Amino acid sequence: MASAPSSSAVRVRFCPSPTGNPHVGLVRTALFNWAFARHHGGTLVFRIEDTDAARDSEESYRQLLDSLRWLGLDWDEGPEVGGPHAPYRQSQRMDLYADVAARLLDAGHAYRCWCTAEELEARRDAARAAGRPSGYDGLCRTLTPEQTAAHEAEGRTSIVRFRMPDEPITFTDLVRGELTFTPENVPDFGIVRANGAPLYTLVNPVDDALMEITHVLRGEDLLSSTPRQIALYRALAEIGVGNGSIPRFGHLPYVMGEGNKKLSKRDPQSSLNLYRERGFLPQGLLNYLSLLGWSIAEDRDIFSLDEMVSAFEIDAVNANPARFDLKKCEAINAVHLRAMPVADFVAACEPWLTAPHAPWRPEAFDRAAFEELAPLAQTRLTVLSEITDNVDFLFLDEPATDEASWAKAMKPGADALLRTARAGLAEAEWNAEALKAAVLAAGEQHGLKLGKAQAPVRVAVTGRTVGLPLFESLEVLGRERTLARVDSALKTLEQQA
Ligand code: GLU
Repeated sequence: MASAPSSSAVRVRFCPSPTGNPHVGLVRTALFNWAFARHHGGTLVFRIEDTDAARDSEESYRQLLDSLRWLGLDWDEGPEVGGPHAPYRQSQRMDLYADVAARLLDAGHAYRCWCTAEELEARRDAARAAGRPSGYDGLCRTLTPEQTAAHEAEGRTSIVRFRMPDEPITFTDLVRGELTFTPENVPDFGIVRANGAPLYTLVNPVDDALMEITHVLRGEDLLSSTPRQIALYRALAEIGVGNGSIPRFGHLPYVMGEGNKKLSKRDPQSSLNLYRERGFLPQGLLNYLSLLGWSIAEDRDIFSLDEMVSAFEIDAVNANPARFDLKKCEAINAVHLRAMPVADFVAACEPWLTAPHAPWRPEAFDRAAFEELAPLAQTRLTVLSEITDNVDFLFLDEPATDEASWAKAMKPGADALLRTARAGLAEAEWNAEALKAAVLAAGEQHGLKLGKAQAPVRVAVTGRTVGLPLFESLEVLGRERTLARVDSALKTLEQQA
């Protein structure tokens, strides 16, 4: 299993467990690892930590792959790509972990622990009451063969526990600087369950060692496992697993949500699928997520992924908790939307303009008409899903009327204005400029400025008070449909009178 020391090229990993839906914290971790790998011309290993059959699911695994593909975060080794350390799903590497555990036992780096859950709990309570550290007390560290035989005879089961060194462990975190953990704070820990199932505590560092990972960049919540992993690494080096070098660690800051609480997986705003469904652009979302702990320069928060890759340095990551700010995330996405070439914007809108998202009959969709208005829509959207409401007046036979809009625009006198405007529109040449002149003239006759005069026209035609620039919209909608909708609004007003 030992391999020759390889080059010092950067090798990082993204190694989620396939449980539940992907969330933004996970994406931030993937992004920082990806940017670090790309910046250094290194390798991103994508590994699936699916050793917990009770919690892992195939659906979640599929979603992880699909999400990374959608985001454009590509990996160099991993599922569907392969690589020299395949397989990259831990569920397919079980024999390997059993072998490493056996070798750790043989070498004395690990021992069998026969303590039952009740015994452990009773001793933990006693330690707490006496003000002593409450972690594992090392009882099974020094069992004699006779004691072991007696436990076996009793029918007890045993877990495999790793023997932590008696000295403190110090390492320099790439984000937090030098950190020291004393032995009292890092007791011996389980690496294999009584049923033989290996735990995260074992499989994660074993694979990092075998896959020759050089840098571990992950969330701060995993900081407490780092001293254990370093100790385990040293033991693995001694028994010849991996190339003997220990990765550098960098712990990314917590992400705080509403009310300054840690953003949790269960927070609706942390679900990646939600951002996809609302029509965030991958580049907009990733730009925002990169700011959770990192910045490209002071006073600059809009940049492309390429720019991030060129600038990304792990020592520029801030150790302070980052705040997740949905409004800012949306604003950044809007800037990316506006920056797209129109043709790309049109293509990106497509899923929201067709079934099952679009509320109109599929054959009612007119691509050329949409393309005419697309540049105007592009400057107004925050997320792509908003496109449907902005152009539905073009493709629905009868757009629904928003009641509040109707009440606001159809004040007394609106009917008179609409009648005058209708006459002007019927005569006008059918282009935005002439249509505007017609409504302006109608407004003047009724003592109304353009803004007030166009409101009833807009509500009659689109059903809402806000939307794309009106006269361009009317131009694309066409004379016949425009006049028919004004007539229908007039009829409604008559009935209401
Ligand atoms: N599978 C672990 C998790 O999803 C990986 C943690 C790590 O990066 O070491 O939390």
